[in-house]
Amino acid sequence: MAILRFQALKETLNRKPVKIEETDRRSELFGRNVFNETVMRQFLTKEAYQSVRDASLKGTKISRGVADHISTGMKEWAISKGVTHYTHWFQPLTGATAEKHDAFFETIGDGLAIEKFGGTQLVQQEPDASSFPHGGIRNTFEARGYTAWDPTSPAFIYGTTLCIPTVYVSYTGEALDYKTPLLRALQAVDSASTAVCKYFDKNVTKVIATLGWEQEYFLIDSALYASRPDLQLSGRTLLGHSPAKGQQLDDHYFGSIPSRALAYMRDLEIECMLLGIPVKTRHNEVAPNQFELAPIFEEANLAVDHNSLLMDLMDKIGERHNFKVLFHEKPFAGINGSGKHNNWSLSTDTGTNLLSPGSTPMKNLQFLAFFVNTIKAVHDHEELLRATIASASNDHRLGANEAPPAIISAFIGSQLTDVLNELEKVTDGKLSPQEKTDLKLNVVGKIPEILLDNTDRNRTSSFAFTGNKFEFRAVGSTANCANAMTVLNTIVAKQLKDFKKSVDALIKDKGMKKDDAIFNILRDYIKKSKKIRFEGDGYADAWQVEAEKRGLSNHKTTPQALKAKVSKQTIDLYKEMKVMNKREVEARHEIELEDYSMRIQIEGRILGDIARNHVIPTCIRYQNVLIENVRGLKEIFEENFKKHSKEQIGIIEAISGHIEHINADVSKMIEARKAANKIEDAEKRAFAYCDNVKPFFEEIRYHCDKLELLVDDEIWPLTKYRELLFTR
Ligand code: ADP
Ligand code: MG
Repeated sequence: MAILRFQALKETLNRKPVKIEETDRRSELFGRNVFNETVMRQFLTKEAYQSVRDASLKGTKISRGVADHISTGMKEWAISKGVTHYTHWFQPLTGATAEKHDAFFETIGDGLAIEKFGGTQLVQQEPDASSFPHGGIRNTFEARGYTAWDPTSPAFIYGTTLCIPTVYVSYTGEALDYKTPLLRALQAVDSASTAVCKYFDKNVTKVIATLGWEQEYFLIDSALYASRPDLQLSGRTLLGHSPAKGQQLDDHYFGSIPSRALAYMRDLEIECMLLGIPVKTRHNEVAPNQFELAPIFEEANLAVDHNSLLMDLMDKIGERHNFKVLFHEKPFAGINGSGKHNNWSLSTDTGTNLLSPGSTPMKNLQFLAFFVNTIKAVHDHEELLRATIASASNDHRLGANEAPPAIISAFIGSQLTDVLNELEKVTDGKLSPQEKTDLKLNVVGKIPEILLDNTDRNRTSSFAFTGNKFEFRAVGSTANCANAMTVLNTIVAKQLKDFKKSVDALIKDKGMKKDDAIFNILRDYIKKSKKIRFEGDGYADAWQVEAEKRGLSNHKTTPQALKAKVSKQTIDLYKEMKVMNKREVEARHEIELEDYSMRIQIEGRILGDIARNHVIPTCIRYQNVLIENVRGLKEIFEENFKKHSKEQIGIIEAISGHIEHINADVSKMIEARKAANKIEDAEKRAFAYCDNVKPFFEEIRYHCDKLELLVDDEIWPLTKYRELLFTR
């Protein structure tokens, strides 16, 4: 019944922004609930402090004895801040974060109790978490997965719980989470980059990957949200007619932030400050009720943790403001979806951003090496990158509206394109002193100037160079950034490793000078990776044609895209770079296929329910009103009644027509689902859901949306798009 819809609207209209008091400066709040340097110095012995630092910076092991000191320090600090519980905080492959709280409280006999938190509890736990997806790595009967402390990401206090970031692995050491492969990939990119940096600067001993994510989301009033079963269960609207006004006027983008949303953002930002999440930017996005939040970039592992924590926090803070946060990539048809741009770069321990040109010819050549190698890596592994961002929800976004297409390409701007074109002409073999000077001064040397006024922006590219970093734009808003970061850092690591090998070979075997060798290899890479570079409009149909000609992949659906995750090339890559073994790779592939099938299955069920139990009965009720009306007209006008009831009869017929289609399609969809469920093989099942079940969604929706336009607004049971998007 429409009662819920109207109640929800009334509730929403009566809401007031929550008052937010800000007494302390943000800089003072920053990191207050984090076990950071300052706190460690205060609560740890010198030895324990040094031990954590070494573990964090150099990856050294922490001894059990020292771990006991650290845990005691952590406990004292936490208790001083009102904390009662601790948890190992990890990121299983469900996509959400996981926590299982234990109290510090322990009994010691004789009716006495103390607060205790030992080194063992800090370092390792064995949560009975047998229900997390494991893709066959860990059978439930051997329910032994354990979590192990990751000292590179500091412990923090969330509510009244001390959270310790951990990896989650099987007892055989295989990764069951997002963090483990990420840490391995970061290790790989560190070694490979550091080795290449030595060509340019002997002082570099460590390279970190940096990540600055941009999180897009929608805010919907919780009452309105509760009035839509589709939003509640699948995170997106499965039907709903487009409102007369959507985003055509671009009046939301960068507009003044609605006051309830602003109060929410301020509240959220304050919590972020306490947790040390350096959020900086907030603004309205393109679609109505769509917003974005971005931090200052950080080391990639920490940035990934912070994004996961943020998503959890956003939900929690939302409750205080009667908001539901929609992270789905496409909650509403016809308007922009949400993404999570991953801004990525590499940075040395000497403070150099490797994707930012410098003040000397050597620094510029170093920039060029990392820049060209990244493009080459993307070229060689474009299908894997595409696979990385594949999910049932992101399928709606890639290729629609503002999102980048399902084709991976790199945009670098016209001026850097000119530079690469020049470098393509470099002599094969040894360079003359004249040529080298010319290159260094007039080609490579020009790069800093070029980038200073790099106003060249292309928002349609999936992987764009933006002056001092690459921006991987195709990542979905629901995604854990670890996936994209694992792949990107692994392929770049592999590429840099190959680069080093090739350059060394030229130096050793051909007796070339270092610079000559570097120019020679880069020239080859530029030539070989040309097809991945695209400067035009990524949304245009012409690009689809052109990309096909170039031999670039264009996988529109998740099951298709995911194939690249288990290709021989991928398995070899992960093995060589020690990021994942074959079993881990295959397990993930299976989990993702399974996730895909389940999501489509859930959506199919909800859509069937709504269409049959909400839409059709409402339409029949309205049809009965019309029939009653026609009967009355007949009574009054007798023979002449047709003249007066022509339109009503037309609507009665139209309603019957739509109902017939809906009912038939729902039946067929159920059959297709049953058939899909019988398929044992996870990949075949995912394809069945994709090819045989999903196509009914659009059909059913089409008729439901037509009915929405025909039926009396007073009795329409589902909160309409206009109401969801414009009631504040
Ligand atoms: P936009 O892409 O919207 O123009 P910015 O260019 O200001 O925004 O940056 C977007 C994000 O990129 C921010 O989160 C910022 O911290 C991040 N970023 C900037 N420099 C780097 C870098 N070297 N490595 C990783 N992320 C970076
Ligand atoms: Mg951006």
